[in-house]
Amino acid sequence: MQSFDPEQALVEVRREFGEHGGVAPSISRSATFTVIDPAVMPEIFQGLRGPDKGGCFLYSRHFNPTVDVLARYLAAMEGTEFALCTASGMSAIACTLLQLCKGGDHIVSSDTIYGGTHALLEDLLPEMDITTTFVDPADTAGFEEAITPATRVLYTETVGNPTLKTADIAALARLAHRHGLKLVVDNTFTPMMISPARLGADVVVYSMTKFINGAGDLIAGAVCADREFIYRLMDLHTGRVMLLGPTIDPRSAFDIIQRLPHLGMRMREHSRRAQAIAERLAELGAPVTYPGLPDFAQHQLVTAMINRGYGYGGMLTLDCGTRERAEKLMAILQNEERFGLIAVSLGYFDTLMSCSGSSTSSEIAPEKQAEMGLSPGLLRIAVGYTGRLEARLVQIERAVRAAGLV
Ligand code: PLP
Repeated sequence: MQSFDPEQALVEVRREFGEHGGVAPSISRSATFTVIDPAVMPEIFQGLRGPDKGGCFLYSRHFNPTVDVLARYLAAMEGTEFALCTASGMSAIACTLLQLCKGGDHIVSSDTIYGGTHALLEDLLPEMDITTTFVDPADTAGFEEAITPATRVLYTETVGNPTLKTADIAALARLAHRHGLKLVVDNTFTPMMISPARLGADVVVYSMTKFINGAGDLIAGAVCADREFIYRLMDLHTGRVMLLGPTIDPRSAFDIIQRLPHLGMRMREHSRRAQAIAERLAELGAPVTYPGLPDFAQHQLVTAMINRGYGYGGMLTLDCGTRERAEKLMAILQNEERFGLIAVSLGYFDTLMSCSGSSTSSEIAPEKQAEMGLSPGLLRIAVGYTGRLEARLVQIERAVRAAGLV
Protein backbone atom coordinates (compact mmCIF):
# COMPACT_ATOMS: atom_id res chain seq x y z
CA MET A 1 0.00 0.00 0.00
CA GLN A 2 1.17 3.52 -0.82
CA SER A 3 0.97 6.28 1.76
CA PHE A 4 0.46 9.02 -0.84
CA ASP A 5 -2.94 10.73 -0.65
CA PRO A 6 -3.73 12.58 -3.89
CA GLU A 7 -6.90 14.15 -2.50
CA GLN A 8 -5.00 15.65 0.42
CA ALA A 9 -2.24 16.84 -1.94
CA LEU A 10 -4.90 18.64 -3.96
CA VAL A 11 -6.24 20.36 -0.85
CA GLU A 12 -2.77 21.49 0.16
CA VAL A 13 -1.74 23.06 -3.16
CA ARG A 14 -1.97 26.87 -3.33
CA ARG A 15 -5.60 27.72 -4.15
CA GLU A 16 -6.24 30.17 -6.95
CA PHE A 17 -8.99 32.71 -6.26
CA GLY A 18 -10.78 34.68 -8.95
CA GLU A 19 -10.70 38.39 -9.58
CA HIS A 20 -12.65 40.32 -6.92
CA GLY A 21 -12.01 37.49 -4.43
CA GLY A 22 -14.12 34.96 -6.31
CA VAL A 23 -14.10 31.49 -4.74
CA ALA A 24 -13.79 30.18 -8.30
CA PRO A 25 -10.73 31.15 -10.34
CA SER A 26 -11.21 33.55 -13.24
CA ILE A 27 -11.22 32.39 -16.82
CA SER A 28 -8.41 34.20 -18.58
CA ARG A 29 -9.41 34.35 -22.23
CA SER A 30 -6.71 36.15 -24.15
CA ALA A 31 -4.77 34.75 -27.09
CA THR A 32 -1.83 37.05 -26.38
CA PHE A 33 -0.50 39.14 -23.49
CA THR A 34 1.07 42.59 -23.28
CA VAL A 35 4.73 43.05 -22.50
CA ILE A 36 5.32 46.35 -20.67
CA ASP A 37 9.09 46.51 -21.17
CA PRO A 38 10.01 45.56 -24.78
CA ALA A 39 13.34 44.10 -23.60
CA VAL A 40 11.42 41.31 -21.86
CA MET A 41 10.07 39.87 -25.14
CA PRO A 42 13.40 38.46 -26.44
CA GLU A 43 14.12 37.11 -22.96
CA ILE A 44 10.84 35.18 -23.00
CA PHE A 45 11.78 33.65 -26.35
CA GLN A 46 15.17 32.68 -24.96
CA GLY A 47 13.34 30.82 -22.18
CA LEU A 48 14.76 33.20 -19.56
CA ARG A 49 11.52 34.83 -18.44
CA GLY A 50 8.19 33.04 -18.08
CA PRO A 51 5.45 34.00 -15.63
CA ASP A 52 7.26 31.77 -13.15
CA LYS A 53 10.54 33.71 -13.57
CA GLY A 54 9.43 37.27 -12.96
CA GLY A 55 8.37 37.72 -16.58
CA CYS A 56 4.88 37.58 -17.95
CA PHE A 57 2.52 35.49 -20.02
CA LEU A 58 3.21 35.52 -23.76
CA TYR A 59 0.71 33.64 -25.90
CA SER A 60 -1.94 31.09 -24.95
CA ARG A 61 -0.55 28.22 -27.04
CA HIS A 62 2.45 28.46 -24.73
CA PHE A 63 1.18 29.45 -21.31
CA ASN A 64 -2.32 30.52 -20.29
CA PRO A 65 -3.06 31.64 -16.70
CA THR A 66 -6.22 29.49 -16.31
CA VAL A 67 -4.67 26.42 -17.94
CA ASP A 68 -1.67 26.92 -15.70
CA VAL A 69 -3.86 26.73 -12.58
CA LEU A 70 -5.22 23.35 -13.72
CA ALA A 71 -1.68 22.15 -14.47
CA ARG A 72 -0.55 23.07 -10.93
CA TYR A 73 -3.48 21.18 -9.41
CA LEU A 74 -2.79 18.11 -11.55
CA ALA A 75 0.90 18.08 -10.63
CA ALA A 76 -0.06 18.19 -6.94
CA MET A 77 -2.56 15.37 -7.36
CA GLU A 78 -0.05 13.26 -9.25
CA GLY A 79 2.95 14.00 -7.04
CA THR A 80 5.01 15.33 -9.97
CA GLU A 81 6.96 18.58 -10.19
CA PHE A 82 4.98 19.92 -13.14
CA ALA A 83 2.12 19.17 -15.52
CA LEU A 84 0.83 20.41 -18.83
CA CYS A 85 -2.70 20.29 -20.24
CA THR A 86 -3.59 19.48 -23.84
CA ALA A 87 -6.68 19.44 -26.02
CA SER A 88 -7.08 15.63 -25.86
CA GLY A 89 -5.61 12.49 -24.37
CA MET A 90 -4.28 11.47 -27.78
CA SER A 91 -2.35 14.73 -28.18
CA ALA A 92 -0.83 14.28 -24.71
CA ILE A 93 0.35 10.80 -25.70
CA ALA A 94 1.53 11.74 -29.21
CA CYS A 95 3.47 14.84 -28.09
CA THR A 96 5.09 12.89 -25.24
CA LEU A 97 6.28 10.09 -27.53
CA LEU A 98 7.44 12.49 -30.25
CA GLN A 99 9.42 14.43 -27.63
CA LEU A 100 11.13 11.29 -26.35
CA CYS A 101 11.72 9.54 -29.70
CA LYS A 102 13.14 10.50 -33.09
CA GLY A 103 13.52 8.56 -36.35
CA GLY A 104 15.39 5.28 -35.75
CA ASP A 105 14.21 4.96 -32.14
CA HIS A 106 12.20 2.09 -30.71
CA ILE A 107 9.44 1.75 -28.11
CA VAL A 108 8.42 -1.33 -26.11
CA SER A 109 4.71 -1.06 -25.42
CA SER A 110 2.01 -3.03 -23.68
CA ASP A 111 -0.27 -4.67 -26.24
CA THR A 112 -3.30 -3.91 -24.06
CA ILE A 113 -3.82 -0.23 -24.75
CA TYR A 114 -6.52 2.04 -26.16
CA GLY A 115 -7.06 1.38 -29.90
CA GLY A 116 -6.09 4.93 -30.90
CA THR A 117 -2.76 4.67 -29.08
CA HIS A 118 -2.21 1.24 -30.65
CA ALA A 119 -2.79 2.73 -34.12
CA LEU A 120 -0.42 5.62 -33.34
CA LEU A 121 2.33 3.17 -32.37
CA GLU A 122 1.67 0.54 -35.01
CA ASP A 123 0.70 2.62 -38.05
CA LEU A 124 1.62 6.30 -37.75
CA LEU A 125 4.94 6.40 -35.87
CA PRO A 126 6.59 3.79 -38.16
CA GLU A 127 6.04 6.29 -41.00
CA MET A 128 8.47 8.48 -39.03
CA ASP A 129 10.80 5.50 -38.51
CA ILE A 130 9.82 5.08 -34.85
CA THR A 131 8.96 1.42 -34.33
CA THR A 132 7.25 -0.46 -31.51
CA THR A 133 7.35 -4.00 -30.16
CA PHE A 134 4.15 -4.98 -28.35
CA VAL A 135 4.28 -7.20 -25.27
CA ASP A 136 1.97 -8.52 -22.56
CA PRO A 137 1.66 -5.80 -19.85
CA ALA A 138 1.60 -8.42 -17.10
CA ASP A 139 4.95 -9.83 -18.24
CA THR A 140 7.71 -7.49 -17.07
CA ALA A 141 10.36 -9.93 -18.32
CA GLY A 142 8.76 -9.71 -21.78
CA PHE A 143 9.42 -5.95 -21.78
CA GLU A 144 13.08 -6.60 -20.96
CA GLU A 145 13.47 -9.19 -23.73
CA ALA A 146 12.06 -6.72 -26.27
CA ILE A 147 14.53 -3.92 -25.40
CA THR A 148 17.07 -3.20 -28.16
CA PRO A 149 19.93 -0.66 -28.36
CA ALA A 150 17.45 1.66 -30.16
CA THR A 151 14.80 1.52 -27.39
CA ARG A 152 14.04 4.84 -25.69
CA VAL A 153 10.67 4.32 -24.03
CA LEU A 154 8.64 1.70 -22.20
CA TYR A 155 4.93 2.46 -22.59
CA THR A 156 1.94 1.03 -20.75
CA GLU A 157 -1.49 1.78 -19.35
CA THR A 158 -1.74 1.13 -15.62
CA VAL A 159 -4.95 -0.89 -15.91
CA GLY A 160 -5.18 -1.73 -19.60
CA ASN A 161 -8.02 -0.79 -21.92
CA PRO A 162 -10.18 -2.85 -22.31
CA THR A 163 -9.22 -6.17 -20.66
CA LEU A 164 -8.03 -4.52 -17.39
CA LYS A 165 -4.74 -6.45 -17.52
CA THR A 166 -2.49 -4.53 -15.16
CA ALA A 167 1.18 -3.58 -15.38
CA ASP A 168 3.57 -3.68 -12.42
CA ILE A 169 4.54 -0.01 -12.60
CA ALA A 170 7.29 -0.13 -9.96
CA ALA A 171 8.96 -3.12 -11.65
CA LEU A 172 8.71 -1.48 -15.08
CA ALA A 173 10.20 1.75 -13.68
CA ARG A 174 13.16 -0.15 -12.24
CA LEU A 175 13.63 -1.94 -15.56
CA ALA A 176 13.42 1.29 -17.56
CA HIS A 177 15.92 3.06 -15.36
CA ARG A 178 18.35 0.14 -15.38
CA HIS A 179 18.45 0.48 -19.17
CA GLY A 180 18.48 4.31 -19.23
CA LEU A 181 14.92 4.46 -20.64
CA LYS A 182 11.83 6.49 -19.79
CA LEU A 183 8.67 4.84 -18.50
CA VAL A 184 5.51 6.52 -19.84
CA VAL A 185 2.23 5.46 -18.19
CA ASP A 186 -1.35 6.22 -19.29
CA ASN A 187 -3.31 6.36 -16.03
CA THR A 188 -6.68 7.30 -17.58
CA PHE A 189 -8.59 4.43 -15.92
CA THR A 190 -7.24 4.99 -12.42
CA PRO A 191 -6.72 8.66 -11.43
CA MET A 192 -6.18 9.15 -7.67
CA MET A 193 -6.58 5.40 -7.21
CA ILE A 194 -3.06 4.71 -8.52
CA SER A 195 -0.23 7.28 -8.68
CA PRO A 196 2.26 5.96 -11.27
CA ALA A 197 4.81 8.72 -10.73
CA ARG A 198 5.00 7.80 -7.05
CA LEU A 199 5.75 4.24 -8.18
CA GLY A 200 8.62 5.43 -10.39
CA ALA A 201 7.05 6.34 -13.77
CA ASP A 202 8.81 9.23 -15.50
CA VAL A 203 5.81 10.58 -17.39
CA VAL A 204 2.11 10.08 -16.60
CA VAL A 205 -0.40 10.87 -19.34
CA TYR A 206 -4.16 11.22 -19.11
CA SER A 207 -7.24 11.46 -21.20
CA MET A 208 -8.97 13.98 -18.93
CA THR A 209 -12.05 13.40 -21.11
CA LYS A 210 -12.81 10.45 -18.81
CA PHE A 211 -12.85 10.26 -15.00
CA ILE A 212 -10.89 13.47 -14.34
CA ASN A 213 -13.50 15.72 -15.95
CA GLY A 214 -16.29 13.25 -15.28
CA ALA A 215 -19.11 15.12 -17.00
CA GLY A 216 -18.77 13.73 -20.52
CA ASP A 217 -18.94 17.22 -22.01
CA LEU A 218 -15.40 17.95 -23.20
CA ILE A 219 -12.20 16.42 -24.60
CA ALA A 220 -8.90 17.09 -22.80
CA GLY A 221 -5.55 15.55 -21.90
CA ALA A 222 -2.60 16.02 -19.57
CA VAL A 223 1.08 15.20 -19.19
CA CYS A 224 2.52 15.05 -15.66
CA ALA A 225 6.30 14.86 -15.26
CA ASP A 226 9.35 16.64 -13.91
CA ARG A 227 10.01 20.29 -14.68
CA GLU A 228 12.71 19.48 -17.22
CA PHE A 229 10.43 17.33 -19.42
CA ILE A 230 7.46 19.71 -19.27
CA TYR A 231 9.77 22.61 -20.19
CA ARG A 232 11.06 20.58 -23.15
CA LEU A 233 7.49 19.98 -24.35
CA MET A 234 6.76 23.71 -24.04
CA ASP A 235 10.03 25.04 -25.43
CA LEU A 236 9.06 27.96 -27.68
CA HIS A 237 11.34 26.83 -30.51
CA THR A 238 11.41 23.03 -30.30
CA GLY A 239 8.72 21.79 -27.88
CA ARG A 240 6.34 19.27 -29.45
CA VAL A 241 3.33 20.83 -27.72
CA MET A 242 4.37 24.26 -29.05
CA LEU A 243 5.02 22.99 -32.57
CA LEU A 244 2.04 20.64 -32.94
CA GLY A 245 -0.26 22.98 -31.03
CA PRO A 246 -2.84 20.84 -29.17
CA THR A 247 -3.91 23.76 -26.97
CA ILE A 248 -6.69 23.30 -24.43
CA ASP A 249 -9.29 26.07 -24.30
CA PRO A 250 -9.17 27.96 -20.98
CA ARG A 251 -12.94 27.44 -20.63
CA SER A 252 -12.42 23.66 -20.69
CA ALA A 253 -9.55 24.03 -18.22
CA PHE A 254 -11.85 26.03 -15.93
CA ASP A 255 -14.56 23.34 -16.11
CA ILE A 256 -12.05 20.67 -15.06
CA ILE A 257 -10.67 22.88 -12.26
CA GLN A 258 -14.20 23.07 -10.83
CA ARG A 259 -14.64 19.28 -11.01
CA LEU A 260 -11.27 18.17 -9.60
CA PRO A 261 -12.31 18.77 -5.97
CA HIS A 262 -14.87 15.96 -6.21
CA LEU A 263 -12.76 13.54 -8.29
CA GLY A 264 -11.82 11.58 -5.14
CA MET A 265 -15.46 11.29 -4.06
CA ARG A 266 -16.47 10.25 -7.56
CA MET A 267 -13.73 7.63 -7.82
CA ARG A 268 -14.77 6.11 -4.48
CA GLU A 269 -18.39 5.90 -5.61
CA HIS A 270 -17.52 4.48 -9.05
CA SER A 271 -15.46 1.84 -7.23
CA ARG A 272 -18.11 1.06 -4.62
CA ARG A 273 -20.75 0.50 -7.30
CA ALA A 274 -18.46 -1.47 -9.63
CA GLN A 275 -17.33 -3.71 -6.75
CA ALA A 276 -20.93 -4.49 -5.74
CA ILE A 277 -22.02 -5.16 -9.33
CA ALA A 278 -18.96 -7.34 -10.01
CA GLU A 279 -19.58 -9.34 -6.82
CA ARG A 280 -23.26 -9.88 -7.75
CA LEU A 281 -22.28 -10.98 -11.27
CA ALA A 282 -19.63 -13.34 -9.87
CA GLU A 283 -22.18 -14.86 -7.46
CA LEU A 284 -24.48 -15.48 -10.42
CA GLY A 285 -21.65 -17.21 -12.28
CA ALA A 286 -21.42 -14.54 -15.02
CA PRO A 287 -18.04 -14.18 -16.81
CA VAL A 288 -17.08 -10.94 -15.06
CA THR A 289 -13.60 -9.46 -14.68
CA TYR A 290 -12.93 -6.77 -12.07
CA PRO A 291 -9.66 -5.92 -10.28
CA GLY A 292 -11.45 -5.89 -6.90
CA LEU A 293 -12.51 -9.53 -7.17
CA PRO A 294 -10.17 -11.93 -5.35
CA ASP A 295 -10.00 -14.16 -8.45
CA PHE A 296 -8.79 -11.30 -10.71
CA ALA A 297 -5.43 -12.55 -12.01
CA GLN A 298 -3.53 -9.53 -10.65
CA HIS A 299 -5.67 -8.74 -7.63
CA GLN A 300 -2.66 -8.71 -5.31
CA LEU A 301 -0.63 -6.49 -7.60
CA VAL A 302 -3.47 -3.94 -7.87
CA THR A 303 -3.98 -4.10 -4.10
CA ALA A 304 -0.29 -3.33 -3.59
CA MET A 305 -0.37 -0.37 -6.01
CA ILE A 306 -3.55 1.45 -4.99
CA ASN A 307 -3.73 4.48 -2.74
CA ARG A 308 -5.86 3.79 0.33
CA GLY A 309 -9.59 4.38 0.17
CA TYR A 310 -10.35 4.71 -3.54
CA GLY A 311 -11.33 1.09 -4.19
CA TYR A 312 -10.56 -0.82 -7.38
CA GLY A 313 -11.98 1.56 -9.98
CA GLY A 314 -15.08 1.96 -12.07
CA MET A 315 -14.28 -0.40 -14.96
CA LEU A 316 -15.40 -4.00 -15.33
CA THR A 317 -15.83 -6.38 -18.25
CA LEU A 318 -18.26 -9.16 -19.06
CA ASP A 319 -17.14 -11.63 -21.68
CA CYS A 320 -20.30 -12.51 -23.59
CA GLY A 321 -18.41 -14.82 -25.99
CA THR A 322 -19.75 -13.35 -29.21
CA ARG A 323 -20.41 -9.84 -30.43
CA GLU A 324 -24.08 -10.71 -31.03
CA ARG A 325 -24.54 -11.75 -27.40
CA ALA A 326 -22.77 -8.64 -26.15
CA GLU A 327 -25.01 -6.49 -28.34
CA LYS A 328 -28.11 -8.30 -27.07
CA LEU A 329 -27.07 -7.67 -23.47
CA MET A 330 -26.30 -4.00 -24.15
CA ALA A 331 -29.68 -3.53 -25.84
CA ILE A 332 -31.47 -5.04 -22.83
CA LEU A 333 -29.43 -2.99 -20.37
CA GLN A 334 -30.07 0.28 -22.21
CA ASN A 335 -33.51 -0.07 -23.77
CA GLU A 336 -35.36 -2.29 -21.31
CA GLU A 337 -33.62 -1.81 -17.97
CA ARG A 338 -32.37 1.82 -18.37
CA PHE A 339 -29.22 0.59 -16.61
CA GLY A 340 -26.81 2.61 -18.76
CA LEU A 341 -26.04 3.97 -22.20
CA ILE A 342 -24.48 2.28 -25.21
CA ALA A 343 -21.61 4.68 -25.80
CA VAL A 344 -17.83 4.72 -25.92
CA SER A 345 -15.85 6.65 -23.30
CA LEU A 346 -15.90 6.15 -19.54
CA GLY A 347 -15.78 7.96 -16.23
CA TYR A 348 -19.23 9.52 -16.70
CA PHE A 349 -21.88 9.69 -13.96
CA ASP A 350 -24.13 7.40 -16.01
CA THR A 351 -22.95 3.89 -16.86
CA LEU A 352 -21.46 3.63 -20.39
CA MET A 353 -21.15 0.31 -22.23
CA SER A 354 -19.44 -0.74 -25.44
CA CYS A 355 -18.25 -3.90 -27.14
CA SER A 356 -14.54 -3.04 -27.37
CA GLY A 357 -13.42 -5.36 -30.19
CA SER A 358 -15.77 -3.72 -32.69
CA SER A 359 -15.49 -0.16 -31.32
CA THR A 360 -12.65 1.44 -29.33
CA SER A 361 -10.22 -1.40 -30.10
CA SER A 362 -11.34 -1.94 -33.72
CA GLU A 363 -8.05 -0.42 -34.96
CA ILE A 364 -6.37 -3.59 -33.66
CA ALA A 365 -6.44 -6.53 -36.12
CA PRO A 366 -8.62 -9.50 -35.00
CA GLU A 367 -5.63 -11.87 -34.62
CA LYS A 368 -3.86 -9.29 -32.42
CA GLN A 369 -7.04 -8.83 -30.40
CA ALA A 370 -7.02 -12.60 -29.83
CA GLU A 371 -3.33 -12.49 -28.79
CA MET A 372 -4.04 -9.80 -26.19
CA GLY A 373 -6.99 -11.80 -24.81
CA LEU A 374 -9.67 -9.50 -26.21
CA SER A 375 -12.70 -11.63 -27.11
CA PRO A 376 -15.13 -10.29 -29.76
CA GLY A 377 -17.86 -10.55 -27.13
CA LEU A 378 -16.05 -8.52 -24.45
CA LEU A 379 -18.43 -5.93 -23.06
CA ARG A 380 -16.66 -3.06 -21.30
CA ILE A 381 -18.79 -1.44 -18.63
CA ALA A 382 -17.80 1.92 -17.15
CA VAL A 383 -19.95 1.91 -14.03
CA GLY A 384 -21.66 5.20 -13.19
CA TYR A 385 -23.24 6.37 -9.95
CA THR A 386 -26.76 7.49 -10.86
CA GLY A 387 -29.79 5.71 -9.41
CA ARG A 388 -29.92 3.51 -6.30
CA LEU A 389 -27.33 0.74 -6.21
CA GLU A 390 -29.89 -1.83 -5.02
CA ALA A 391 -32.05 -1.08 -8.09
CA ARG A 392 -28.99 -1.34 -10.37
CA LEU A 393 -28.18 -4.78 -8.95
CA VAL A 394 -31.70 -5.98 -9.71
CA GLN A 395 -31.49 -4.55 -13.25
CA ILE A 396 -28.18 -6.18 -14.14
CA GLU A 397 -29.23 -9.53 -12.69
CA ARG A 398 -32.43 -9.49 -14.77
CA ALA A 399 -30.48 -8.47 -17.89
CA VAL A 400 -27.79 -11.17 -17.70
CA ARG A 401 -30.52 -13.77 -17.17
CA ALA A 402 -32.55 -12.44 -20.12
CA ALA A 403 -29.44 -12.47 -22.34
CA GLY A 404 -28.80 -16.09 -21.39
CA LEU A 405 -25.45 -15.32 -19.78
CA VAL A 406 -26.24 -17.22 -16.59
N1 PLP B 1 -6.05 6.65 -23.24
C1 PLP B 1 -7.07 5.83 -22.94
C2 PLP B 1 -6.85 4.72 -21.94
C3 PLP B 1 -8.33 5.99 -23.53
O1 PLP B 1 -9.33 5.15 -23.22
C4 PLP B 1 -8.50 7.04 -24.48
C5 PLP B 1 -9.79 7.26 -25.17
O2 PLP B 1 -10.70 6.47 -25.11
C6 PLP B 1 -7.41 7.86 -24.77
C7 PLP B 1 -6.21 7.65 -24.12
C8 PLP B 1 -7.55 8.99 -25.75
O3 PLP B 1 -8.13 10.09 -25.12
P1 PLP B 1 -8.91 11.28 -25.86
O4 PLP B 1 -10.14 10.70 -26.46
O5 PLP B 1 -9.14 12.28 -24.78
O6 PLP B 1 -7.99 11.80 -26.93
